Amino acid sequence: MTRFDNLIAGQWTAGSSYSRNINPSDLSDVIGEYAQADAAQVALAVAAAQKAFPFWATGSVQARSDALDKIGNEIIARKDELGTLLAREEGKTKAEGIGEAARAGAIFKFFAGECLRLSGEVLPSVRPGIGVEITREPIGVVGLITPWNFPIAIPAWKIAPALAFGNCVVIKPADLVPGCAWALADIISRSGIPAGVFNLVMGRGSVIGDVLVNHPGVAAISFTGSTGVGGRIALQCAQNLKKVQLEMGGKNPQVVLDDADLNQAVELAVQSAFYSTGQRCTASSRLIVTEGIYPKFIAAMRERMAKIKVGDALAQGTDIGPVSSQSQLEQDLGYIEIGKSEGATLAVGGERLKLATDGFYMAPALFSESAASMRINREEIFGPVASVIRVKDYEEALAMANDTPFGLSAGIATTSLKYATHFKRHSQAGMVMVNLPTAGVDYHVPFGGRKGSSYGPREQGRYAQEFFTVVKTAYTLA
Ligand code: NAD
Repeated sequence: MTRFDNLIAGQWTAGSSYSRNINPSDLSDVIGEYAQADAAQVALAVAAAQKAFPFWATGSVQARSDALDKIGNEIIARKDELGTLLAREEGKTKAEGIGEAARAGAIFKFFAGECLRLSGEVLPSVRPGIGVEITREPIGVVGLITPWNFPIAIPAWKIAPALAFGNCVVIKPADLVPGCAWALADIISRSGIPAGVFNLVMGRGSVIGDVLVNHPGVAAISFTGSTGVGGRIALQCAQNLKKVQLEMGGKNPQVVLDDADLNQAVELAVQSAFYSTGQRCTASSRLIVTEGIYPKFIAAMRERMAKIKVGDALAQGTDIGPVSSQSQLEQDLGYIEIGKSEGATLAVGGERLKLATDGFYMAPALFSESAASMRINREEIFGPVASVIRVKDYEEALAMANDTPFGLSAGIATTSLKYATHFKRHSQAGMVMVNLPTAGVDYHVPFGGRKGSSYGPREQGRYAQEFFTVVKTAYTLA
């Protein structure tokens, strides 16, 4: 069995123990054994990053740009291999895995350019003879904590801007899917970046997460994961006066109006509710449908969902792979029972599937006749489960779409310019989609939500510099 170690101060370092990375499509397939860091190793990684910081922060931006470009090029050249590893360890399909790997490569290449474009401002002072300069500087050592559902793209969209703007990194990826993060660390370790600038510590959040968040040498934490864990991290960062950025859960609405193109509406609902096994923070789990199109929409969804092929993530023809883990599968099946007991009608799917290999397979589920107040419409399920809520008109649909503690992404299917324009303006989500799935975003523009979905500055695109730099105002007497 191959063992994969932590990367600390430029050295591959054995863990205090090892954890098996198992393929959710085939539980007999073990991808490898991955090192588990302990508190002492996290401290060593932070110390290495602190030591590397002065040189990296003030060094050549050309060297940073070249390294990021090199990393991006290697990821893109190896996207098929990395995408296959991703599908094998996380369970999204191979095509989705390859797409995610390519996106990770593109992100590094984007920030290879961004680090050359970090600009400031020069203003006259209100006092004669004085000049004012506003510049951006790196923060220091940043701790990055990532979830299991985008095992290469989310590490990439935190690591790339952190390094581009002169910070040093200690990343703790999700313990369920360490393979892609390790492969990324391997690529970064050969990019020419000095030892200690980038460090990888693998392990459980409950064991080393707190250690990283509370370490006095860590200046800022960028976290993506559940709202519960994110809230606790925000409290710890506030107590230690650390900068913090949180991307968390969603309960994203997809509104379908009477005037929508039915086929398009069904396709985008299926794509964003069920693809990637519904395990996307931007998945549509509430389909809010006006009453004129409601019966046709349910009938068309039944017909379309019957064609979805659930299977091994690596097999040709699979539309939806397995759920990622036993505990996530139990959670998803638990919500099927909750929905039924709350009085929603289970229109399609929702059962565990037995396929040729032993994996965490589940038939995508659609509830109809669900009410907005039901737990299946209030809580993030994070699986291939969506429910349809019938509403009278656009006004009720908008109110329902906004009636949630979350606010990540929201979509509307309509041919009306009036309603599309009004929805873009009045949706309380951070990202709004017109005639597009709620999931599926570009890498060069800001990503993030409102309310319980996000906290702190936006990720990605130019906006990433808000979090990964700190502003300095300098005055000079001429
Ligand atoms: P999670 O909160 O369980 O874990 C996320 C990360 O936090 C993991 O690396 C975990 O090990 C770590 N962690 C756990 N306890 C910790 C602690 N006490 N201190 C520090 N770190 C700790 O989330 P998950 O199950 O890995 O991911 C699914 C969640 O992520 C969903 O809620 C999903 O919506 C969310 N998500 C959000 C976005 C977004 O950008 N908004 C993107 C992807 C996933």
